[in-house]
Amino acid sequence: MAFGFRSSDVEHTLVVLLQRLGPLSRAELAREAGFSRSTVSTTINGMIDRGLVVEGAHIRTEVRGRPAQLVSLAPSAGTAVGIDFGFRHVRGAIADLSHKVLGTAEVELDIDYSPDAGIEAAAAIVEDIVEQAGLSRTNLLGIGVGIPCPTDLSGTTTRSAMIPTWSGIRIQERLAARFALPVHVENESRLAAWGEVVWGAARGVRNFVYLKLHSGVGGAVFVNGQCVSGCRGGAGEIGHVSLDTRGPICRCGNRGCLEVYAGIPAVLQQLTQVHPGINLPKLLSLYRVEDPSVCRVISEVAQKVGQAAGMLCNTLNPELLLIGGSFSALGEPFLAQVRPALDNVSIDLNRGTRVEIGTLGRNASVMGAVARAFQLFGNSSLGRSTQPTPAFAR
Ligand SMILES: [Zn+2]
Repeated sequence: MAFGFRSSDVEHTLVVLLQRLGPLSRAELAREAGFSRSTVSTTINGMIDRGLVVEGAHIRTEVRGRPAQLVSLAPSAGTAVGIDFGFRHVRGAIADLSHKVLGTAEVELDIDYSPDAGIEAAAAIVEDIVEQAGLSRTNLLGIGVGIPCPTDLSGTTTRSAMIPTWSGIRIQERLAARFALPVHVENESRLAAWGEVVWGAARGVRNFVYLKLHSGVGGAVFVNGQCVSGCRGGAGEIGHVSLDTRGPICRCGNRGCLEVYAGIPAVLQQLTQVHPGINLPKLLSLYRVEDPSVCRVISEVAQKVGQAAGMLCNTLNPELLLIGGSFSALGEPFLAQVRPALDNVSIDLNRGTRVEIGTLGRNASVMGAVARAFQLFGNSSLGRSTQPTPAFAR
């Protein structure tokens, strides 16, 4: 044991890391915690003996060398559900505390569905996935919920014209009453970024910007491993960075926001004259065969994305710009145009910022919702809420 650290302090730190970041190798735990590898190994061995953590339930193949056996929290300590309210769907996933996914479900709803319809669909999904996984609700620690509009820190959607039917709804309170469980509500782009931190392309990345290019354009900013929420929960609304104050009017009421250039509906609208009835799958297939009008419009989207991203890079100096949402299917040819546009407005230190596509696709938000539920509600299953010190000792 390293001098100055009590066993319980080290255990607590390791459990918090596993709750926050999901399964990690012993080397990653040592790096993240700032303890020596021998301290971590001795502590982990003791925790395995006492059934607090398991090793080998998750294996990750490293780029070089042999597969790494990961340490995770004991699955029996509890499960959490993630719910993602999209523009026309509700999606759910359930995982145990070792971060193993036990089931998923999805229902389609009418576009502009009401909060009541959404809450009932979510309730049906929770029942469905708990039953599918052969579990009982008593094992559920809590529910993480993603919604496609900004919320303040109390879990109330902001009053705005952005999604009129959800404006000013105390969504966290209503969901907690409906489920009779702890509920955490957050903007779905921010949850998608958390999903990529725990399960996807942002593992081990402490400073990055997530940009969701979808019907709406959303985002999230991670600084030193923390997702920035801002003083009222409004950080990360990259889609509403104004790139031209004389540009087209946006649904937020301002002009020339990134979303009016890079949101999927705006892009499809530009192409309807040349390709009547065009939709997203058609656009993607035309892009693959290098249709001239589609390539021109997507090239302009890349310029705007690079311009907005460059402004953020000059402000935040991130190591990665991670792109998610349906437009991430544009792939490498799109990124190849975003990178020079970003460099064009970046100072030297920010030129060459990595630009990549998220690996979780359409499941990013729902997986982030599960991750947040573990981070926020996992402590109670491990004794934190009633027994602060020593946190995880028997
Ligand atoms: Zn806007």
